[in-house]
Amino acid sequence: MNETTRIYDVIVIGAGPVGENVAERARAAGLSTVIVERELLGGECSFWACDPSKALLRPVVAQADARRVPGLGQAVAGPLDAGAVLAHRDKMASYWKDEDQVDWLNSVSVDLIRGHGWLDGPRRVRVETADGDTITLSARHAVAVATGTHAAVPAVPGLDTVRAWTSREATSADKVPGRLAIVGGGVVAVEMATAWQALGSEVTMLVLEDGLLRRMEPFAGRLVTDGLREAGVDVRFKTSVASLARENGEVQIALADGGHLVADEILFATGRAPNTWDLGVETIGLTPGDWLKVDDTFRVTGVADGWLYAVGDVNHRALLTHQGKYQARIAGAVIGARASGEPVDDTMWGAHVATADHMAVPQVVFTHPEVASVGMTTHDAIGFGHRIKVVDYDLGHVAGAHQYAEGYRGQARMLIDLDRGTVAGVTFAGPGVAELVHSATVAVAGEVPIDRLWHAVPAFPTISEIWLRLLETHRG
Ligand SMILES: Cc1cc2nc3c(=O)[nH]c(=O)nc-3n(C[C@H](O)[C@H](O)[C@H](O)COP(=O)(O)OP(=O)(O)OC[C@H]3O[C@@H](n4cnc5c(N)ncnc54)[C@H](O)[C@@H]3O)c2cc1C
Repeated sequence: MNETTRIYDVIVIGAGPVGENVAERARAAGLSTVIVERELLGGECSFWACDPSKALLRPVVAQADARRVPGLGQAVAGPLDAGAVLAHRDKMASYWKDEDQVDWLNSVSVDLIRGHGWLDGPRRVRVETADGDTITLSARHAVAVATGTHAAVPAVPGLDTVRAWTSREATSADKVPGRLAIVGGGVVAVEMATAWQALGSEVTMLVLEDGLLRRMEPFAGRLVTDGLREAGVDVRFKTSVASLARENGEVQIALADGGHLVADEILFATGRAPNTWDLGVETIGLTPGDWLKVDDTFRVTGVADGWLYAVGDVNHRALLTHQGKYQARIAGAVIGARASGEPVDDTMWGAHVATADHMAVPQVVFTHPEVASVGMTTHDAIGFGHRIKVVDYDLGHVAGAHQYAEGYRGQARMLIDLDRGTVAGVTFAGPGVAELVHSATVAVAGEVPIDRLWHAVPAFPTISEIWLRLLETHRG
């Protein structure tokens, strides 16, 4: 076993999409940078989350859309070719190999150490490599934690006997289970129910709450529930799992209401927990297992001298790749500015603060129908005390939607901040709305005056004409 010590300007722990971008930005600012990764470069997103899940969903959503196009429906009436979809998924997950990302890291001159990293007192990181070597790293300017999250699974009796799926197995499984039970009603649950039902599983969703996608506008959850049920998913609300057992290869699921369900696999899509348990945070006075709280420049609060940053999922601000990468661009720039003694622009919407995290986080749920939202929901806006006007419109009445699919069903909501005269939030639910969300993000992040939006004319006949209809409804 060898022990070595190395000094860098910046140390990044975790090479998911966020850590990679922090490292690249810090290096671009002229700082020597090393990144520590214990698994695969690209993290959860590339191998067990965004990329494989969207590869599973794309054929499902395309087929569901095509079935509603006159003259085309008959051509796509049969089942999906599950083997081909899984093979495509494997390709999109780069066959769980990260050579391409290693090449990219080399091309941006960031050093890589493969191994598990622990904080080891101020500005120090200890790494144990797969070969059993220990490398101690010391940072002149900053350590950035980008260790992400793992699936949080509730302590159900018998859980350890059933080899339950988490999002990892749900996105990487190489066989379609005959019967799949899914516990949860959030984004991962609805996306995986959509995918596996279409691939041939009989899916049953066990949802504790009284609806799906509870953090979004309620109509989104209702439309997704209808879509899942039409596809054959058994969606059960106010249902929880009391205990589990695997017998003769089957998962026996006892429900809290006394009911019983048998499945071949059970997926827990019940939230995320931060990767801070085994990270040495106690060596700098923080509590293992806690999310790392940060200020708007991503410095961890409560750590003296401001050398520790936390970026991406681990800071709990927005558990999304695009938002984490936005944070990474900002964190890399601010680390660079502080290291070179340049002024830090931390005014609202400044170069060194992630203002969009608070006001304009876009998200897409890739189900059928899709859901796309940005900014506040009605519930948030009222909770934060904003004076808002809620403008609703039936997406099915838009000409572009008529063209898109026969019997198109969808809904849109725009929230107007009455004090600022701008759009505070938008939610679209309906087939084909994913690509609409960036228009809404520009309106919200750009704080475009509502009267100016009137002059942004959507092309006829596109679903984007929803903007015109919402504005007409607002103007009366
Ligand atoms: C099923 C699913 C689907 C999703 N789909 C989408 C989507 O479509 N769009 C979207 O925007 N978001 C999606 N997300 C969320 C997205 O995956 C995360 O927001 C994103 O991966 C966060 O990136 P990160 O770099 O912060 O963390 P991660 O991707 O989790 O990467 C963290 C990295 O740190 C490493 N690490 C952890 N601890 C240590 C340590 N001590 N030492 C060394 N290395 C360590 C890990 O091995 C990992 O590689 C999805 C999530 C799930 C679960």
